[in-house]
Amino acid sequence: MTEAYFAKKTLMENNWNPDSLIKLEKIKKEFYNKPNKSKKLKIPKYCPKCGNKLKDKTKICPYCGIHVDEY
Ligand SMILES: [Zn+2]
Repeated sequence: MTEAYFAKKTLMENNWNPDSLIKLEKIKKEFYNKPNKSKKLKIPKYCPKCGNKLKDKTKICPYCGIHVDEY
C-alpha cells in the first residue's frame, strides 16, 4: 500500500476532512517512535525459577534450563 493511497483512503473514510490527515501523521509518528520492546527487555540477575545467579546477558538458566526472560 502506497502512502498516497493510504492518505486518500483516510480522507475518504473521514468525509474528506483534512484534519484526519493530521491525525494520521500523529498515529504514524507514534508508531515509528515506539521503543523496541525486545531491546529494552531486562534480563534478571537471578533465575526466577531456581534462584541461582545468572551470568550477564544469559537468557537461559544454566541450572534449570528455563528461558528467564519468558518465565
Ligand atoms: Zn534456573
